[in-house]
Amino acid sequence: MMDEGLREGIGHVGFVDHHVHAPYKRAHAISLDDFRRPFTEASIPAVWTENIPTLIGYQWMVRELARVLHCAPTEDAALAARNDMATVPYHRLLADAANLGACYDDDLFGFGQCYPIDAWAEVIQRPVERVLRVETFVEQGYATCETLDDALERLTREIATPARRLVSLKSIAGYRSGLAFDPLSAIQRQAAAMAYRQLRESALNPHAAQRAPAVLSPFPGRIADKALVDTIVWTALEAAAPQGLPMQFHIAFGDDDIVMTKNDPTLMRALFAHEPFRAVPLVLLHCYPFHRQAGYLASTYPNVYADLGLTIPIVGPGAATALAELLELCPTRQLLASTDGHMEPEFQWFSIFVWRWALARVLGQYVEWDILTTDTALATARAILHDNALRVYRTGGD
Ligand SMILES: [Zn+2]
Repeated sequence: MMDEGLREGIGHVGFVDHHVHAPYKRAHAISLDDFRRPFTEASIPAVWTENIPTLIGYQWMVRELARVLHCAPTEDAALAARNDMATVPYHRLLADAANLGACYDDDLFGFGQCYPIDAWAEVIQRPVERVLRVETFVEQGYATCETLDDALERLTREIATPARRLVSLKSIAGYRSGLAFDPLSAIQRQAAAMAYRQLRESALNPHAAQRAPAVLSPFPGRIADKALVDTIVWTALEAAAPQGLPMQFHIAFGDDDIVMTKNDPTLMRALFAHEPFRAVPLVLLHCYPFHRQAGYLASTYPNVYADLGLTIPIVGPGAATALAELLELCPTRQLLASTDGHMEPEFQWFSIFVWRWALARVLGQYVEWDILTTDTALATARAILHDNALRVYRTGGD
């Protein structure tokens, strides 16, 4: 039995989306393939042309979207109804339906194809803050940074005195070289400098240079060398520590180039054990299927935070199970809620819908079992959806 008072109370809490990507800025009317595309990490078209329509989470999304759009609960009807609306009213309709609050935008995803920060803020009428994706930032500096020293200097400078206010850093090491970070060493630095030189050359002269096979490196200059990735991440954390600036990590599920066995967050022990990094909130994004490991880490290290962004909408009704499993060990002040919205606005809206549904179910059950009071359950949901993000990212003053 769903506790209706609790469900309603959860609906009134504004959702602070601490990990999201601004949607594509393209023609609003999209194809069926583009409509399905955000609901898989696959890059093989057969996945969305054939299989995604049978994913339970996706079928649920179509039915809920049809409710919002007042149309028949079918994929064709929902797509036609959303395509019939103008861009801005559609984005705002979904943002309002989700009771969306501020968004923290990792804006180096699909760089150049997505709404810039200010333009997106204008479309959705919500504050949008900037998150810096460190590996991509280094890749963008090849033209001006001849050596690894130059590149790290540019990165450190951007963290200390950013061109635009940063609320967090983000690392995609998980799907580049994995999460078993090694601390800095002279040997690692040498290997990293050499890798940087080669990658820079292949990025600036893509035809002349030797490069990794396209299957492993879809674009020239893509940083996936472990010594180089580890050096960048460690350097970024050293720059973040004096300000206590958080750093988000892509954990496990979330891209099709992941080696899952290298993505268990317990592999990140060198970062957790390094005392100066205790000043940096380390935010574990996505986490599936290692959300229990994430909960364990949050229970062990005071500066570790866990999130089920991306996981929540894709696992659909499994969201309640994943959330309950994470909450076995994760103190609720260390759980953050994000959407990982990307490509089109439906993903962000549906993620928020499922977050609220899962919280109402799981916390409602704890009330039913007389483990929590309704007031505590509601305060817990408020912390997860809103208050924890403001505290961790220190964005509460505005
Ligand atoms: Zn993301």
